Amino acid sequence: MSDLTFETFASLYDEQTRFVDYGSIHDELTEEDTVRRLYLIADSLIDDAKKFNLTSITEPSEIIRKHLIDSLIPLSLIIDNTGVPGKLADIGTGAGFPLLPMAAGLLKIAPETRLTGIDSTAKKISHINAAAKYVGLPNVTAIAGRAEEFGKTGKNTLRGSFDLVTARAVANLPVLMELCAPLVKKGGVFAALKSHADEEMLHGDAAAPLLGMTKEAKIDYEIPGGDRRCVIFYRKISDTSEKFPRRYAEITKQPLG
Ligand code: SAH
Repeated sequence: MSDLTFETFASLYDEQTRFVDYGSIHDELTEEDTVRRLYLIADSLIDDAKKFNLTSITEPSEIIRKHLIDSLIPLSLIIDNTGVPGKLADIGTGAGFPLLPMAAGLLKIAPETRLTGIDSTAKKISHINAAAKYVGLPNVTAIAGRAEEFGKTGKNTLRGSFDLVTARAVANLPVLMELCAPLVKKGGVFAALKSHADEEMLHGDAAAPLLGMTKEAKIDYEIPGGDRRCVIFYRKISDTSEKFPRRYAEITKQPLG
């Protein structure tokens, strides 16, 4: 347990969400039992951040703004633009963002949705699994490993397993797309959460068809305080060639697009 109390958290969250629009799921994302779960996510992050060096953001109102709200606005954009996913994976989830806040929201809206967090750093995965238990998020599983390994065919593959794949702050778009596209089910969506993406997006758009993807939309939003962000949606319209994903060194040395 950190020093942060639920009452302090709830009033900070209320203050910051007063000007936030979570679309059709606004009520669910501001209801008390969701706010209580978001509080427990923040509480366990503050607690574990010291032990495991998980995040540089440890001030409660910054956690709310940059980690919680910046995961929940994208969730609302995803729900309102592509529907409720049955199976979601968050790649390079780190300390669990956007994974854990999305899980808290989805537990309320669609408790049958299953979320998988993937990260190459095992200590971050241990934090997430412990946090999911502490918060009460039975819809979450986190596994340690590299996205490009899970994307290959063969043993332990997760290729083509997810209706929706998300990623925030992991790599630039063409690299990220090769990591994520193989994991998406045909007909499913890859949603990239980005801050400034215009230049990158041109390369992402060029990489997309090579991986069986097509760009569907880019939606801009602002988090409280005015920082600008966007979600870029790519839909998988055909199977990804078995040539992809390549080895990480090749992906980064010669990005597609
Ligand atoms: N999504 C989180 C963390 C971003 S930091 C957030 O927005 O707060 C990037 C994370 O991606 C790190 O935790 C790193 O371990 C992970 N990562 C980078 N490349 C990866 C790969 N190829 N497969 C799995 N995880 C990866």
